Formats: sequence, C-alpha cells, structure tokens
Amino acid sequence: MTEDALVKKIALEEHFLCPGFIEYWNPTVAEMPAEKRDNLLKRNTDFGEMRLASMDKAGITRAVLALAGPGVQAEKDAATAVRTAKAGNDFLAKEIQKRPDRYSGFAHLPMQDAKAAADELERCVKELKFCGAMINGHTLGQYLDHPSLAPFWERADALGTLIYIHPTDPVSVAPVLQGHPGLRRATWEWTFETGSHALRLIFGGVFDRYPKARVGLGHMGETLPYLLWRFDSRTGPDFYNVGLKKPVSHYIKNNLEITTSGMCSAEPLNCAIAALGVGRIMFGADYPFERAEEAGHWLDTEKLDENVRADIAYKNAERLLGLKV
Ligand code: MN
Repeated sequence: MTEDALVKKIALEEHFLCPGFIEYWNPTVAEMPAEKRDNLLKRNTDFGEMRLASMDKAGITRAVLALAGPGVQAEKDAATAVRTAKAGNDFLAKEIQKRPDRYSGFAHLPMQDAKAAADELERCVKELKFCGAMINGHTLGQYLDHPSLAPFWERADALGTLIYIHPTDPVSVAPVLQGHPGLRRATWEWTFETGSHALRLIFGGVFDRYPKARVGLGHMGETLPYLLWRFDSRTGPDFYNVGLKKPVSHYIKNNLEITTSGMCSAEPLNCAIAALGVGRIMFGADYPFERAEEAGHWLDTEKLDENVRADIAYKNAERLLGLKV
C-alpha cells in the first residue's frame, strides 16, 4: 500500500518529553538497555523530521501530544507540580504553534491541587486550545475518585473535556506479580492498575455526581469492555447493591471513550465495538513506545467495514475532540 492509499488518522496517545520532565520519566525506564532508553528519549524530545516521518508512514495526519508519564503526578511538592505542569503545557503549545496542521495537545495537570488543576485545565482548553487532558494515573497514590478532587470534576464536567487516564506503575507491586518481572508494566500490571482506576471513578460515584464527565482509556479500554455483564451481575440488586444510580455497564458505555493504543488486534476491537459502540473508539499509536507504523498498518488492513475504519481512524476524534484532520 502506498502512503497515498493510507486511511487518514488522528492519533491520541502520542508522547513527548521536554526539559523539566525527563527526571520524572527516568525511573520508568531504569531497567531498560541504555541504547533503547536513549533512542526513546531522542524520539520523545523530537518534534520534527523523526516524528513526522513516523506519522507519515502510519498515515497519521494529526497527533494529539501528551507528556510521557509520570510527569508531575510523581512530584512531591504541590507548588512545584503546579508550576512545572504549566511550563510543560506552555512548551507544548509553542511546539503546536510551529505545526498546527499536524499537532494538537492534551493538558498535563497537577492533581495535587484540585483547584489549580481545574484552573490549568480551563486555561489549556480555552487559551491554548488543547482538546483534553491526560493524567498519568494516581498522583502520589491518590486516585481520581478522591473526594478532595470534587472541584476538578466539577470544572471538567462543565467544560465537557475528555480526561484521559494513562497507565502508570502501581503504588506497590501486587504479590501475585512478584517474581515474574515479565508480567509487570505494559504486559499486564498497567492494565489492571488503569482499569481499576477507571472502576474507582464509577464505584466512587463520580459519574453519578458529574454525569457529563468524560474519561478516556487506552489499550482498547483496559479490558473493561470485556467485563460488562459480570460487573452488572456482581453488583446488581440481587447480589450486592453498591449504591450507584445505574448499572456499572451504563457508565462504561456512556462516560468512557477508548483508544486502540498498543492493541493491534481485531478480537478486543470487536468486543469494544459490541460493548461501547463504534462511536466511542478512537485511534492511538502510543508513539514512541509502540511502532506507529505497525498500528497504522493494522488499522489500514484489518478486515473492517469502511465506515467503521473511518470512524475509528479520524471521524470520532473530529466529533468528540473537535479536531480536524
Ligand atoms: Mn502511552
């Protein structure tokens, strides 16, 4: 297939790094061979030829850029987190200004301070024209259902902005994973951590209080689309009433929007389409941690109805995030 024949795409989980954030990122790649780590750093900090060439090969017309984690989610001093997040967002805005035809942005937020995070979200959406926010999992062990974050959810709900939860390392390694380093991080650990994080928002009543709140998940929904029936059956009135206004599946179907990041396979995609409807599924390549070309080629060639392919490739992102290819 020539590049002209590629389906145009908007990619949603595309990462970058900038000064001030590399120190936060380093521990996540500490066990990686130095050569691979250096290559990732080079790709994360490049906004020119290397990134654009990779996008072109994958048919990605527009990449929504977000800071590689954990960023200020790992910052112990709240005031530093607020200041550093702002600097990161300003840096990204400047890079987008150089290539507004190719790049958009997700805000990076200091969740240590709910009011400051809400203000920064609003500034990023209204002034910097970002199309949502990406939060790299828990912030120093505090998850997004924490009651102190009410002012943040109130604002996110009012703005109607997508809040994308990106995987991160858990607070501590679960006993069941100990002794098997191959199961850690992207293999399985992050899926459980991030899927559980989204479930905390549902079970914590966040979507009952803020019914318009929108949460994004990568990796085809971190297994949640597969489990709708079981969640409802285990929490329904006949079993154990968890005090929610609606069945658990209602929130998964109505408050979550998911991407294909790091999941180039039809089985979970078909499950997600059946569970959530095709209108809530968007493309993500997870550059530079995954091969954008592989993700693009997969979506170009997977056996799919052409309307479904176009919806996932760019039409849903245009509609849900107000983007243009
Ligand atoms: Mn990612």
